[in-house]
Amino acid sequence: MTLLTDHLRAMADAFPDEVGYRVVDGGAMSFSQWEAESNRLARALQRLGVHKGDRVSLYVDGPEALRFMVGYSAVHKAGAVAVPTNTRLSEAELERLLGHAEVTVLLADPGREPLARQLERALPTLGRIVVSPAGEGASDPAWSWGEMTAAESPDTFQVDLGPEDLADILYTSGTTGLPKGVAIRHRTVALIPGAPNPTFSGRCWLHSSPLFTFAGIGFVYNPMQLGLYGVYQPRFDAGRWLAVVGSLRPQFVFLVPSMAELLVAHPDFTSADLSSIELCAIGSAPLAPATLRAMQERMPEAAVSNSYGMTEAGPAYCTMPKGESLKRIGSVGQPMPPLEVRFVDDDGKDVPEGEVGEVLLRMPGRQREYYKDPEATAATWQDGWLHTGDLGRLDADGYLYIVGRKKDVIIRGGNNIHAVDVEAVLLDHADVREAAVVGVPHPVLGEDVAAAVVLVPGSHTTPEQLREHAAEHLADYKVPRRIAVVDELPRNATGKVLKAQVRQMVSPEPVS
Ligand code: AMP
Repeated sequence: MTLLTDHLRAMADAFPDEVGYRVVDGGAMSFSQWEAESNRLARALQRLGVHKGDRVSLYVDGPEALRFMVGYSAVHKAGAVAVPTNTRLSEAELERLLGHAEVTVLLADPGREPLARQLERALPTLGRIVVSPAGEGASDPAWSWGEMTAAESPDTFQVDLGPEDLADILYTSGTTGLPKGVAIRHRTVALIPGAPNPTFSGRCWLHSSPLFTFAGIGFVYNPMQLGLYGVYQPRFDAGRWLAVVGSLRPQFVFLVPSMAELLVAHPDFTSADLSSIELCAIGSAPLAPATLRAMQERMPEAAVSNSYGMTEAGPAYCTMPKGESLKRIGSVGQPMPPLEVRFVDDDGKDVPEGEVGEVLLRMPGRQREYYKDPEATAATWQDGWLHTGDLGRLDADGYLYIVGRKKDVIIRGGNNIHAVDVEAVLLDHADVREAAVVGVPHPVLGEDVAAAVVLVPGSHTTPEQLREHAAEHLADYKVPRRIAVVDELPRNATGKVLKAQVRQMVSPEPVS
């Protein structure tokens, strides 16, 4: 099978009436409904003028995940490129991203329509907004994308595509310079290798990561690769998650560390029935050893793993054999061939074996790239080696440890925030002369965003006013929770801002 949509087609042929996807507190669809609805929408997209290679945005909120699934499959069936779009971004951020991708059609749920209409006016390339109908009703053949699709045939539909054609663009940052979109071709999608003939166990894989992220998009097709159906909890709630595990009895679950923290702290954690879970992957951000231990001890029969992944790395997996994770706390597992790993110093030279260096990854034939940005691509992938910006080492048995971050990225509850994006918005304020944005420790989110600013002499803008300014231009989760007004920023001899010292200046508690 070459395309993602081939897998859905095969499941719909073999198991038409089985549940293909379920949304917690939001309904379910069978594999055949998913297949038929996406065929209809693909035809409708073609009728709207979508051609092979055109970019189509999926601007759909989590609770509408079934429509997202149908839309995602339909875009690929129409031969187009999916741009799963972060629903939390500000209008300015969206304009930059969708303008960069030159999106021609945007699929939105009713809640996102007002902002979608503004984008339609602002972006010359965006020719058409398709809004799904309000309300649910999987029994109605037109339930997913409304009138426009109801008249279309549900029969198999697939524009001819090959492994080199683009499948998705996943944007990793937003407001400054060129937005960085990771371009994913059909040959570089992060699909878990599955059986050539579909199987189905009737069991499920529960996850809760936003669908527009690398962690989220992987849960559209990967469950079916393993003979499972996907279950999505759009708004993570620890108590509800524990109850859902008890009732749906998932075999696999995926969590980001801050979700795992909330589970461990929840009063029902010790009494909930977690016995169905065989694999509990926790990843997207650093995982505290105590959290991993608490999860593993609570699920002694399950493989609980610290999972390392990166949008740019795509299908680069590490595996942690069952029973090993408590013996190797802090490790993200053994790189799985054909993944190769190297560690280099600041000059790009390999560090001695076992020592810490920047993690370089190589996946021959599966390398990704940045969309419309050859310079950033050349800087990030050198001779096929992806420079991750993460610091790590390998132990004597070949287990990888991620020990720090070289790049200026803050990971707040699994959401990546590029410090430079937030700094640019602060510097845009007329009263701000200098700004430095850093991550500070947070007990549940892992890190939170803080800033130190130097004001223009004589100005009296308050931190609260600066926060309001940032909130107007940035997604809510990127707005600094703490802003310190300082006389000057700490700099080294060459004038580079010393972020470690900034962190001390803005932290509530001393940072070790
Ligand atoms: P993203 O592309 O949004 O998935 O972010 C990838 C980055 O998240 C990596 O480069 C790491 O900095 C961080 N990350 C992901 N998983 C882990 C993990 N298990 N431990 C530490 N950092 C992680």
